[in-house]
Amino acid sequence: MPEYKMLIGGKLVSPVLGGTMDVINPHDGSLVAVAPKASREDVDLAVAAATSAKAAWRKTYIGDRAGLLNKLAAVIREHEQELYSIESQQYGGPIMKTSKFDIPFAPAEFEFIAGLGRAQTGLTISADPDARVMTVKEPLGVVGLITPWNFPLVTAVSKVAPALIMGNTVVLKPASCAPLTCLKLGEYAIEAGLPAGVLNIITGPGAEVGEAIVTHPGVAKINFTGDSATGKRIMSLCAPLVKPVASELGGKNAFIVLDDADVNAAVEGAVYASFFNSGQNCGSPARFYVQSGIYDEFVSRFVASADKIVVGNPADPNTMMGPLAYMKCRENADKFVAEAKAGGAKVLLERPLPAELQKGAYVMPTILELYDNRAPLMQEEIFAPVVGIMKVENAEQAIEYTNDNKYGLCASCWTENYRKGMLVIEQLDVGTTWINQHLAIVPETPWGGRKESGWTKENSVLVLDEYCYHKHVWINMADSPNTFWHDQIKL
Ligand code: NDP
Repeated sequence: MPEYKMLIGGKLVSPVLGGTMDVINPHDGSLVAVAPKASREDVDLAVAAATSAKAAWRKTYIGDRAGLLNKLAAVIREHEQELYSIESQQYGGPIMKTSKFDIPFAPAEFEFIAGLGRAQTGLTISADPDARVMTVKEPLGVVGLITPWNFPLVTAVSKVAPALIMGNTVVLKPASCAPLTCLKLGEYAIEAGLPAGVLNIITGPGAEVGEAIVTHPGVAKINFTGDSATGKRIMSLCAPLVKPVASELGGKNAFIVLDDADVNAAVEGAVYASFFNSGQNCGSPARFYVQSGIYDEFVSRFVASADKIVVGNPADPNTMMGPLAYMKCRENADKFVAEAKAGGAKVLLERPLPAELQKGAYVMPTILELYDNRAPLMQEEIFAPVVGIMKVENAEQAIEYTNDNKYGLCASCWTENYRKGMLVIEQLDVGTTWINQHLAIVPETPWGGRKESGWTKENSVLVLDEYCYHKHVWINMADSPNTFWHDQIKL
């Protein structure tokens, strides 16, 4: 069994109290590895290490910081194959996905952010002809990064890279059920030569270790991705401390198909985006609003395509959809489906679970037709390969239904009339949108939501602002300061 350690102060260490936690493969319930289970004492050590490192890291030339991020990207690439496999085993992402998306995204993100950081500029402001006015970006200090399990390494790197390039030092806490690739990142950080204490990675339960990071007086800001309920809890802990929280939270994303859509494209987009990563994607479309003229054709082809998805062992290179991350996720999805059926939803696709997958956390692709937009299946995040479809009469009804939801992460509109598509998109109260696409996520484009999906931006040039202060500097070039009392108090 491989031994995993945390990274604190440039050293791979075990928790002070020696705790461990099992990492379970959701495919068959087997033990993947034993991970460290930290406690508050380890958080104190990690924050102390990050605090000691921050002055020197802040003073390090940004080109050198970028060079270290590029080195880290190179080290990750050397270990890609090992990482695909660990990522897949710890949360059930098929190797087809971890090898094509998760692991290649991580070094690409480090490289993108390394270049972006070097190219950033500040403002110069024409406030007064006798003054030179500017903004200067300054690091926040020690930042606490708390991440979920559905894209374990990618989500962590999307925060670690911009935090480091902006001169912050980091305490990262990944999800307890899938911490292994983030712990590997700790080993690679040493190999890449990252100075001790700049990046610290600790693993342990959110309620103890997560909250100890959140409330630690040495941590200047929390950047959190996860469930909306956890996000609210973190915000409530930060409010009395006036500590900023960046938040990427849950979603219940709409997929709007208008009568003039290219049905082939819409079906391909729908099947991929709904069932990629077993629907455990904050951006997955989980509620479909399909216009009446195209409804029957779209629905029958969507169902037929979803019926062909290869579900099974994530380690098999032909598997398109693996299990959910753990058994409770399966029970939660099953409960939503049972309740929807009891409430009158019509089953369009419900594939039987093959006998060999019974002991895993599997949920087969499931499509239901709904008649009430307030039904839980159309309102609540299920985070599983379960989607609800409703027929709508026109674009206005699709917009109304999309906005009638507490979440506001993302949505797509499928139409060959781009003007109409743009008018729809402009009326959606969500943070990320596409026309004739869903789930295109690359380092260059901003990602983030509104309402109970949070308000932060990941990726793109916008992410840098999450990790710095903009200090306003006013330099008076005149002989005396600009005051209303100049004539009264002239010396
Ligand atoms: P959770 O909110 O349960 O956990 C996320 C992280 O928070 C984990 O590291 C967890 O630790 C930690 N945590 C839990 N409780 C606390 C606490 N009280 N204080 C501090 N930290 C805590 O989310 P999941 O891991 O279940 O991830 C799924 C959720 O993430 C979904 O809602 C999904 O929509 C959302 N998500 C949003 C994204 C976006 O960009 N908007 C992207 C990806 C996911 P531990 O694992 O030990 O419990």
